Amino acid sequence: MPRKYRVGILGATGTVGQRFIQLLQGHPQFEVSALAASERSAGKVYAEACAWKLTGDMPESVRDFEVFPIEPPLDCDVIFSSLPSNVARDTELAFARAGYPVISNSSSFRMDEDVPLLIAEINHEHIELIDVQRQNRGFGDGFIVTNPNCAVTAFAPPIAALDQRFGVRSVAVTTLQSISGAGYPGVPSMDISGNVLPYIPGEESKVEIEAQKILGKFENGAITKADFSVSAQCFRVNVLDGHTASVRVDLKETATLEEVVDAMRTFPRLELHSSPAHFIEVSDEPTRPQPRLDIDRGNGMTVTVGRVFPDNIFDYRFVGLSHNTVRGAAGSAILNAELLIDRKVI
Ligand code: NAP
Repeated sequence: MPRKYRVGILGATGTVGQRFIQLLQGHPQFEVSALAASERSAGKVYAEACAWKLTGDMPESVRDFEVFPIEPPLDCDVIFSSLPSNVARDTELAFARAGYPVISNSSSFRMDEDVPLLIAEINHEHIELIDVQRQNRGFGDGFIVTNPNCAVTAFAPPIAALDQRFGVRSVAVTTLQSISGAGYPGVPSMDISGNVLPYIPGEESKVEIEAQKILGKFENGAITKADFSVSAQCFRVNVLDGHTASVRVDLKETATLEEVVDAMRTFPRLELHSSPAHFIEVSDEPTRPQPRLDIDRGNGMTVTVGRVFPDNIFDYRFVGLSHNTVRGAAGSAILNAELLIDRKVI
């Protein structure tokens, strides 16, 4: 039997925290051992503190767990963090200093030069930054790795596939982001019902900078960012789960439509527990991808692409879709932890 690592979840009562708990049920390498959230929840049992919003019942195994404040020590080997960015930075630093591996969904450390920003299939070699980080910050066994903004996961995978094969010169992306991306309770129903909101605070700049770091090269102890530019517009739409990205891309080398689709379809997967059979699925159906029909592909870990066509202004256009709380948050963080165990960093 492989060793089971005990997991502590920061922000355990929230949208991403609940998804962590759901995805970790029956996981062969992890068992949830500690839950933490705000002062509002600390001291209560989880069933009392958490308004469970996922389909299916709250797992019995966590109902009676006490919710702790977000401070070390917690009774666990690994921390999954899903805290709002305003509290995540100091808290995650405190846990890393106390010797915990911290796998974070928050934006607080994503762009720090010595912190890996991982989509495991794309840039697993960036975990080598962890040694640099430990040296820079005087951490012992602890460290921080992050996963990207949930909207970035809807287009960075197909862009990575195109960049590896043909080189990417520039990307224009319009995101249509679901309500759950704003956490619970999120956007008031009277603002989002029958409506499209053309502003998500801070989102466009995150979408414009994170893909270059993810697709960057690890060399001489640092990441050299990819040299393409990204222009982003981000919208909140009346969809419960699933971020859609409408993408136009210019390539450095000429490529046929068949070659573009092939580059996406054949992008390698990883052999880890949470790796989907297909990292990127390309649909030929003219009406796909759709959030309601496609977000659960590969247990929410597959990125679905459709409507791949030559474009009149850019070289190609396509639509990407990913499950924002699974591939865009908890599922990717768990995959990152599996990668770190596989590479003997944890
Ligand atoms: P959420 O539903 O609002 O949940 C926030 C969680 O953080 C709750 O457990 C809450 O505890 C806790 N919290 C809030 N303020 C706190 C404080 N001052 N001190 C300690 N704990 C506090 O948010 P979410 O959607 O899960 O997002 C969590 C993080 O993940 C954010 O950084 C977000 O940007 C990132 N993220 C979210 C998504 C997504 O699709 N939702 C995707 C990728 C990344 P209480 O219940 O006790 O208030």
